Amino acid sequence: MASVSYPYAAPVSQTLFDRAAVVTPGGVNSPVRAFRAVGGTPRFMVSGDGPYLTDADGREYVDLVCSWGPMILGHSHPEVIGAVQAAVARGTSFGTPGEGEVELAEEIVARVGPVEQVRLVSSGTEATMSAIRLARGFTGRPKVIKFAGCYHGHVDALLAAAGSGVATFGLPDTPGVTGAQAGETVVLPYNDLEAVRAAFAAHPGEIACVITEASPGNMGVVPPLPGFNAGLKELCADNGALFISDEVMTGFRVSRSGWFGLDGVVPDLMTFGKVMGGGFPAAAFGGRADVMAQLAPAGPVYQAGTLSGNPIATAAGVAQLRLLDDAAYEKVDAASAQLRALVTEALSKEGVVHRVQNAGSMFTVFFTDEDVTDYAKAKAQQAFRFTPFFHSMLSQGVYLPPSAFESWFLSTAHDERALERVAEALPGAARAAAEATE
Ligand code: PLP
Repeated sequence: MASVSYPYAAPVSQTLFDRAAVVTPGGVNSPVRAFRAVGGTPRFMVSGDGPYLTDADGREYVDLVCSWGPMILGHSHPEVIGAVQAAVARGTSFGTPGEGEVELAEEIVARVGPVEQVRLVSSGTEATMSAIRLARGFTGRPKVIKFAGCYHGHVDALLAAAGSGVATFGLPDTPGVTGAQAGETVVLPYNDLEAVRAAFAAHPGEIACVITEASPGNMGVVPPLPGFNAGLKELCADNGALFISDEVMTGFRVSRSGWFGLDGVVPDLMTFGKVMGGGFPAAAFGGRADVMAQLAPAGPVYQAGTLSGNPIATAAGVAQLRLLDDAAYEKVDAASAQLRALVTEALSKEGVVHRVQNAGSMFTVFFTDEDVTDYAKAKAQQAFRFTPFFHSMLSQGVYLPPSAFESWFLSTAHDERALERVAEALPGAARAAAEATE
């Protein structure tokens, strides 16, 4: 980071960040927004239009974060905004059932075969937390297998490294999670079926579920190796555990039915968020009807939410999903393929080692010369090259995720003009990456 300079000023954002730091820890409401991994001033955005964001200093950026995934139609899509305005005019929350919830649930069930029933919640964290409680309630077992590098929200048990003697790979422990919560979590290396088999053998009759990102995007994009998800499903079935596929990031983004639409492996439970809320707080978990029947009030496993199925969020989600037809996915996929080729060309020209890995339209640029198949390999990349790369792009009006371990996201609004602007920025950024020193 020492070799990076910030030749451009963002004085209004800086003033807002200073104010924020007084009243909010670290000045942000979600840590990665703070630019800690790349340094410099986080941009406070004031508006979004199609593929563009405008910050408080009046600078426009091509947005390759898309709110960390949700904005797959671009910002301020007129039909989504129209649906939201119509819903707001009728009132903002009733705390009763409403038709919008039924419509959103029907849309999800219609798109994703393994989901026979679905429960709406307000965040991806709530979805995974509830799915795990349900899996424990259904099986009567305590333990959960998760994979290093997979993020499932800030659920206590899933932020904890396992205390089980199984190898863990750098999962950050956090103060505030007790030994009891951590002790029931078994953390294994990603893409390693043998480790999963060994864990089932070491804890017979104790494992309630395996939870995995359908195709991980939170250590950068690291797709499952062929047969990995199918192997997980089989091991779960053989051992009486549930297989939970977390599609909060991939759901309704990498295909109309998410990663399930690409690999066809049928999970017992699935979790969703991001795209299904159209930019509002809506998320869900769902799956086998016999498992979902254990949820209150149908069954004994308690789960609830004051704002679950909120009418504004469901209106936005339904409007967005209904616009996401095959043509929309073809458009995002094509824009992603074009951008991946541009990045590869620019970095190759400067002799920068890299791997561009994708899952559908989601992709990450790893600064490494070997395929990244797990968290250890992701962390072994030359992340120091990302910082100057990021700041060069930012200074040229391209907003990338401020970390080398995140997915880039596109939308149907990323047209030739937007991609051309990214193409113009890439050679300078690739040069900055080439010149970076540790
Ligand atoms: N699961 C996955 C795969 C995610 O990527 C995320 C968030 O990025 C979550 C769960 C948590 O979702 P939320 O941030 O809405 O709580």
